[in-house]
Amino acid sequence: AKDNGGDQYFIYHGDMFQRVAHRVMMEGEVKQALAKGQFSLSLQPQLVAKTNKVYGFEALLRWQHPERGMVSPDDFIPILENSEHMIALGYWVIRRCFQLSKKIKQVGLDDVVIAINLSAAQFTDVNLPDYLNSLLDEFQLTAASFELELTEQTLVKDIDKAIISMDNLRLLGFSFAIDDFGTGYSSLAYLKRMPVDVIKIDKSFVFGMLENNADFQIIMSTIAMVKNLGLTVIAEGVETQAQLRSLTENDCDLIQGYFFSKPIPETELFEFIDSEIVD
Ligand code: C2E
Ligand code: CA
Ligand code: CA
Ligand code: CA
Repeated sequence: AKDNGGDQYFIYHGDMFQRVAHRVMMEGEVKQALAKGQFSLSLQPQLVAKTNKVYGFEALLRWQHPERGMVSPDDFIPILENSEHMIALGYWVIRRCFQLSKKIKQVGLDDVVIAINLSAAQFTDVNLPDYLNSLLDEFQLTAASFELELTEQTLVKDIDKAIISMDNLRLLGFSFAIDDFGTGYSSLAYLKRMPVDVIKIDKSFVFGMLENNADFQIIMSTIAMVKNLGLTVIAEGVETQAQLRSLTENDCDLIQGYFFSKPIPETELFEFIDSEIVD
């Protein structure tokens, strides 16, 4: 038994070492990738359920790696959480979103919102409000053109700190969506303390909503609660017409998912806008 304990310790230790090494490697790669222009955004439409009009686009980061091909954000963002390179990459994402928003206004879509995902480290970075403010000025855009997506996990890390960060960004006019709603802890306590505008029902509830009664009930209760609080509710991961119909009938405001569109590479965004939106 004693020997086993020793082995376990060794395995654990080795695993930690590997994770740290992997992280350090990724940090270096991200820095290089930024310099080499390997990052881009894909934009996924968010539609008004009742009218099918485009409400906005969520900006999703893409990394075209020269050897590994397209690397999923889920495979590098969590690993790099808190690193200075992730913060730099986050700023790159924000600037790109401003550029795209400007172009979208220029083709005549004045009310389309861009939703930007913020990591926890980025959200609490003291330089963020100044950076956003300088971009508003540079691009001559208003904060109403953007929505900042924060996960539940980010918000509950330190609720008091989160409220201060939100208030600072709110003063500039930014609004907030809570991402991955229902998958974290204390989903309800912060709703009454935080200046939240939009709640995003996580796709894990949507996928099985018509087969699994628990998922269905959770979604319907969430929609009712969010609406009763006077907020907007969006469902992500909507893949079928039947899901869309059920969500629409039950008063879900906004819909995002493969049923309408997969995330669109930024190079194809204006083709999509020309063919699907401009009326
Ligand atoms: P998320 O913010 O929850 O984004 C939604 C994810 O669901 C996206 O995955 C999107 O492509 C996917 N999705 C949307 N509709 C459907 C659907 O109908 N079916 C299925 N199966 N999937 C759908 P993606 O693009 O791989 O992004 C994964 C996560 O990476 C995001 O989850 C977000 O947490 C993170 N992420 C992406 N871009 C950024 C970014 O710029 N900054 C930060 N901090 N995180 C980002
Ligand atoms: Ca998101
Ligand atoms: Ca989500
Ligand atoms: Ca997510």
